[in-house]
Amino acid sequence: MLGAGPAGAVVAMVLGRRGVRVLVVDDGRQKAFSGGETLPGASRPILGGLGLTDVLDRTPTLPCTGSRSAWGSDELAMRPGIMSAYGAGLHIDRPAFDTHLRVASLRSGASALKGRLSKVDRDDRGWIACVGSDGGQITVKCQWVFDCSGRRSIFARAVGAVRRAADKQVAVVAVAERSGHDDDLATTTESVSEGWWYSAQLPRDRRVFMLFTDGDLLTNSGARSIERFVALGRQTRHISELMATYEFGRIPPTVVLADSSSLDAAAGPGWLAVGDAAASMDPLASTGIIDALKSGRMAAEVLLGSGVRLEDYSRAILERYSQNLRLRSRYHWMEKRWSGSDFWRRRRIPFV
Ligand SMILES: Cc1cc2nc3c(=O)[nH]c(=O)nc-3n(C[C@H](O)[C@H](O)[C@H](O)COP(=O)(O)OP(=O)(O)OC[C@H]3O[C@@H](n4cnc5c(N)ncnc54)[C@H](O)[C@@H]3O)c2cc1C
Repeated sequence: MLGAGPAGAVVAMVLGRRGVRVLVVDDGRQKAFSGGETLPGASRPILGGLGLTDVLDRTPTLPCTGSRSAWGSDELAMRPGIMSAYGAGLHIDRPAFDTHLRVASLRSGASALKGRLSKVDRDDRGWIACVGSDGGQITVKCQWVFDCSGRRSIFARAVGAVRRAADKQVAVVAVAERSGHDDDLATTTESVSEGWWYSAQLPRDRRVFMLFTDGDLLTNSGARSIERFVALGRQTRHISELMATYEFGRIPPTVVLADSSSLDAAAGPGWLAVGDAAASMDPLASTGIIDALKSGRMAAEVLLGSGVRLEDYSRAILERYSQNLRLRSRYHWMEKRWSGSDFWRRRRIPFV
């Protein structure tokens, strides 16, 4: 198993519980905040079905009362969380959530190795992977590899799979500390000429602000500096109000890849790509974590011989990705205000 995010943790846990010997290799890098902190209500039955309800009990959370967006218009439209069939969502402490998922995978019998994949070969008995770790190079032999390494699909690309991106979107992410009153527990999305903003309150008196734009448009906007990032936020109608009771400090915002991209095939002989490593959806949908949990379970079922074949798995992942691209395209067409902007012009391509 390569990668111990939500996808890797679930595959390791499901297989471990069924007595399969699993080694999870993760680089264990301390990541600056990189996004992914709102869980839709639909996550509850998924986590419950995996026997992981306690992960939510142990993770610091705030209720998410709904989503509001000023998209295609200046006015904010509210969609209350309770209108979802699964009830309100949650704002989670993401590092804590990921840690509790990893602990669950270790409890199920999986082993863990901190290191990075440096080379992979195959012989007639299976895979031979070289992992660079604190203890030097370690050779790992295994029959199956689950690539759960996130958007870079480290293993799948090393064995020849091709990753294609539908856009160049990145997110500029800053977390601010609360300095005044804030009882707003909804998520807020606001489109602007250079892309769109997102903000949500986080546990422990913090709030995340993100500007989504295209990587090549970032330089002109200057949003990599915290001063310019805050200045751009203050030019908006709604995000600016949320910024008013927060302090940003001096740490520059983090820039992370936030494109829609997928592999040309999500599996091959002896390997499967899972979660973002197989296909990553636009964060606009806020479904990345539950997609990672669901695909993790399905990938484990392939190996356990529960009736899901390798090609069915790959097809299901890529169909879901195409559906998501169609839905995203409909959202982009709703925004008609900035026909001269590169960001929106690039997104006015009909998707069939
Ligand atoms: C800006 C932004 C905002 C988002 N907001 C939301 C949201 O609100 N709600 C939501 O549900 N989703 C959101 N997402 C998506 C969500 O975060 C991802 O879909 C989810 O993290 C996918 O989980 P994963 O396990 O597939 O990959 P990851 O969480 O990326 O985990 C991959 C793991 O692999 C490890 N790894 C990588 N390379 C190597 C290597 N070479 N060797 C060893 N280990 C390696 C990494 O360290 C990491 O631990 C957002 C994404 C972005 C970019």
